[in-house]
Amino acid sequence: MPCQLTQEQIDHAIAFHGHWCPGLASGIRAAEWALAEMGPRSEDEELVAVVETDYCGIDAVQCLTGCTFGKGNLIYRDYGKLAFSFYRRSDGKAARLVLKGMGNTAEQEEMTALHRKKATGLTPGEADRLQALREHVAAQTMDAALGDIFDIQALNDPPPQKARILESRVCDGCGERVMETRTRLRGNKCYCLPCFEKQADVA
Ligand SMILES: [Zn+2]
Ligand SMILES: [Zn+2]
Repeated sequence: MPCQLTQEQIDHAIAFHGHWCPGLASGIRAAEWALAEMGPRSEDEELVAVVETDYCGIDAVQCLTGCTFGKGNLIYRDYGKLAFSFYRRSDGKAARLVLKGMGNTAEQEEMTALHRKKATGLTPGEADRLQALREHVAAQTMDAALGDIFDIQALNDPPPQKARILESRVCDGCGERVMETRTRLRGNKCYCLPCFEKQADVA
């Protein structure tokens, strides 16, 4: 089944992200799955998303599911994988969606090659070709069945801990307040990470 979200939801994601692209389309589909299977947009921390790479699609998840970096219910793990896990706190329902890839292999290879070449400059023809490929793959991603885009695995692990209000301390280097868990001790002084790293440079 093609994407079941409203045009308004899709437009909202494009406006939030800044442009239309295949990555955003894949994030829109992940958000669509979460909204359908895990219940409504998360106003607080009812729903938690764990994402495994920072790419365009994360913006769609943030603006459509309400799992946001600021609220602490979007957790970024730097694993370099195109995967989203969603956890519903009310009953522990959880699943991980792994993106299978976008477009066919030939299209992916051509897009990757053109993206690489972008650094040194594309001819107008190549730029048009890249744009056409991106449009095509984004459209395909919106039209495909969710099961064709993602491997969907049920998860049994508990949701990540809730965002906590942490104690803060004053850094002995810069005098700024810093979350206690992010401080480092050297001698009997307590430092924020940038000050601690500066100390390490002179030591
Ligand atoms: Zn993008
Ligand atoms: Zn400091």
